[in-house]
Amino acid sequence: MILYLHRGSHQVGGSCIELETSGSRILLDYGLPLEEFVLNNHLSSKQEAHRDLLPILGLYNNESSQFEGILLSHAHPDHHGLLGYVRPEIPVYANRETQELLSISEYFRPEAPPVRNLRTIAAGEPFTVGAFRVTPYLMDHSAYGTLAFLVETEGKRVFYSGDFRGHGRKCTVFQRFLADPPAPVDALVMEGTVLGRAETGLPSEAAVQNELERIFRERRDLTFIAFSSQNTDRVESVFNACLRTGKTLVIDPYTAFILNRLGGELPRYFSKGIKIYFGPGSHADRMAERHDLWRFKDAKISFQDILQKRCEMVIKNTFAVRRKFAGAGEFGGAALVYSQWWGYFDNEREFWAAHGIEPVHVHAGGHARVAHLQALVQALQPGRIIPIHTRHPEAYAELFGPSVHCLPDGQEMKI
Ligand SMILES: [Zn+2]
Ligand SMILES: [Zn+2]
Repeated sequence: MILYLHRGSHQVGGSCIELETSGSRILLDYGLPLEEFVLNNHLSSKQEAHRDLLPILGLYNNESSQFEGILLSHAHPDHHGLLGYVRPEIPVYANRETQELLSISEYFRPEAPPVRNLRTIAAGEPFTVGAFRVTPYLMDHSAYGTLAFLVETEGKRVFYSGDFRGHGRKCTVFQRFLADPPAPVDALVMEGTVLGRAETGLPSEAAVQNELERIFRERRDLTFIAFSSQNTDRVESVFNACLRTGKTLVIDPYTAFILNRLGGELPRYFSKGIKIYFGPGSHADRMAERHDLWRFKDAKISFQDILQKRCEMVIKNTFAVRRKFAGAGEFGGAALVYSQWWGYFDNEREFWAAHGIEPVHVHAGGHARVAHLQALVQALQPGRIIPIHTRHPEAYAELFGPSVHCLPDGQEMKI
C-alpha cells in the first residue's frame, strides 16, 4: 500500500491523505486549509480557485485514474471544506451525525457547492471500498460524531486518528478505545494540533461546566457567553450550568435550529430554561426566508423581557445581539464569558474594550493533549508514526523516537 500525504504535514487543517493499492485509490478527508477560510467566503462560487489549492489527478475531471471513495472523519471545514468540488461520481463515506451537520451548513450557505453522493457509515461497522476494508471508530472531539479510521489491505493496516481528544464529554469512548485497540498497526497518521503550544485552558469539558456554574452563580446582571453552536459538548455544558444555577439560556435562532436538527440527548430549544431571542442577523434572515423561523416561536423571548429579568439571563454572544444591547445603552453591569478558542477574540476585542468589559476565558480545546497522543501510540503500537494536522511535526520525534517519519506534503511512503 502506498500512502500519499497531499496536505497537512506541517499545518493545522486542510488534511488530505491518499491510500493506493493495486490500482485502487481512496482519499481520507479533503479539507480546506484554515488560512483559506477567508478566501473561501469570498470565492465560494469560483470552483477553479479551489482546484488550484490541491490539484490531484482523478479527483475533478474525467481522468483515467479514479478514486473509489472518500472517507470523511468529521464535519469541520478543515476536513470537508473542498468536498463540494470533486467529481460527483466519487462516493463520500460519512456517518449520520456528520451528514446532518453538512446539511445544516448547506442550509445556511447555499452559495457553496454541496457534498454529493454521500454514503452512510457507522462507527464499529466495517465496510469495503475498492481493495480496502475500512473500520470507523467513534472518537471524542469538539465535532459531533467524529470518526477515526482503520484501513486494511493486503495484510497491511493504517490507522488515521482524524481529530481527537480524551477530555471531552465522550472521554469514556476514548477510554474504551484504549482498552480494546485494533493493535498493532503498520502506520499511524496522527494529529498533533497542541504540539508546540502551551496547554492552556481547563483540563476537561467537565471542568468547563463546573467553572461556568461557579461564574453564573455569582452573576447578578446580564451575562453574555461566546461559544460555537456546533460544539455540542459545549452547548450541553452551558445549558447544564444554567440549569443548575437557575439561569435562563437565551440562544439565537441558528443555535435553536442546530439543536432541533441534531436532536437525540442534546438540550432542545423547547427545554425548560432555554429561550430564543429573534434578534437581527443573517442566519435568522435565512430561516425567515425558508419559512422556518416561525417553528421556534413558542420559545421566543423579547428584548424587553430579557431586560426585565436581566440578572437571570445568560445570552449567546453574536455580532448583532451584542450591538443591539450596547446600542440601547443596556451594557452597564454586563459581563462576557468567552468559551471558545481564544484566537477568535481578536475580532471583537475592540468592541468589548470600548465598553470597559474584560472577558473571562473558560475553555477546553478540541484536540488531544500530549498525554492522549501518548496513550493512542501506546495502544496502537504503530510501526511508524506520521504527523498530520500540526504546525510542529518535529516535536513528534522528541515524544516518540525513531518510529516517527515526517512525510512532507506531496510525498509518498510505501507501507
Ligand atoms: Zn481539524
Ligand atoms: Zn476538527
